[in-house]
Amino acid sequence: MKSIIEVSEQRLRANVQALERALHHADSPIALLAVIKANAYGHGAEICAPMLARAGVPWLGVTDACEGASVRAALPAGSAPEILIMSGPPGDDLSARNAADLALSNRLTPVLWTPEQLIPIAEAAKLSGVAHQIHLEIDTGMSRQGGSPGQALETFLQELNHHHQSIRLDGVFTHFASAECADARQTLAQMSVFEKAIESIAAAGHSPRWLHIGNTSTIDNATEAATPILDRLRRLAASIGARPMARSGLGLYGLSLPLEPDQPGATRIHQDLQPVLTWKTTVTSVHEIPPGARVGYSATFTASRPMRLALLPIGYADGLRRDLSSTEARMGGWVMIQGRRAPIVGRISMNLTTVDVTGIPEVRRGDFVTLIGEGISAEDHARLAHTIPYEILCGLRGTPRALLLPPAPR
Ligand SMILES: *Cc1c(COP(=O)(O)O)cnc(C)c1O
Repeated sequence: MKSIIEVSEQRLRANVQALERALHHADSPIALLAVIKANAYGHGAEICAPMLARAGVPWLGVTDACEGASVRAALPAGSAPEILIMSGPPGDDLSARNAADLALSNRLTPVLWTPEQLIPIAEAAKLSGVAHQIHLEIDTGMSRQGGSPGQALETFLQELNHHHQSIRLDGVFTHFASAECADARQTLAQMSVFEKAIESIAAAGHSPRWLHIGNTSTIDNATEAATPILDRLRRLAASIGARPMARSGLGLYGLSLPLEPDQPGATRIHQDLQPVLTWKTTVTSVHEIPPGARVGYSATFTASRPMRLALLPIGYADGLRRDLSSTEARMGGWVMIQGRRAPIVGRISMNLTTVDVTGIPEVRRGDFVTLIGEGISAEDHARLAHTIPYEILCGLRGTPRALLLPPAPR
């Protein structure tokens, strides 16, 4: 096995509990939708889904109907969590029809917002004789996925009425574009648009079971400006007899974005989260090079002293970003071997990387190497690769595996 992505159930559960504490309220707790799209941000959706079900999460969010079907199959039969298909249905009719069939046979809840998207689900549901539930996404200002409030929403609701025997509106939601912003201006404006949309949905006679809003930063951001958002969601849901819910992905896996600009202390969960994943491989071989030897493609690194290099069977094809390469003038990334840093030497190749183990003389072929985990984080990779930890995590290609023993304390 080239690399292993080890997932700690204990930490995943602790993160769920931290999120639930932040959402708790004696009269009106907000439920948690655990986002496991994109293969659970690289952690392995089929491994994480049963863990999250055991942690008592009522909803899971997947990318598409295919991912939803494999997640449903990975859950014990009759398992409680509902599964939301977070991306809208495919644009071509044949794929949309297949996705609708998968949704019905696997008890998946599609996200829809245009009248045409109702048709494949309505047809599949008519054949089955049972109404199928959907969630409606409202675009409140991100201009990405979802229907606009106003005429588009009215038209959708009228179409929905035509299909009332085959489709049931189970939930309505929106997504925030800038939830990590300390001033919360855009989020508050989006929330106001959402509140008006819900008012008109209720006025049109619909009574969805769930109202939900997005993301880890929405839950985490506790600046003075952002704090009212969760209470506004509670009030909004109560006003139409629905249950409030918040979606989180990154937080489940133990990460959260810093507030923008950062305000240490103004967070609800940031300080409690623990990374869930350890990405590991083993040393293929160890060799020595003399001073003057050049390392890797384009010889970007020349040894200025005798060095011992360890070869790793991992490269950018596995998600080890090429930006972590080094030259003799510029440090790149590093890996951890026996608890010590081994710097990456020269260019990272497609499937191979060399690291400097001159300072760790006892390293041998077969030794474990930590690529992400204790001593090097997904955030470190993101900083070196000029991107966000999301892109690092969902780009990882290794074999996911549940960690049975509790990990050592960090
Ligand atoms: C990905 C996604 C989330 C999760 O966002 P995090 O920042 O990872 O918590 C929530 N809602 C929607 C609609 C998403 O697309």
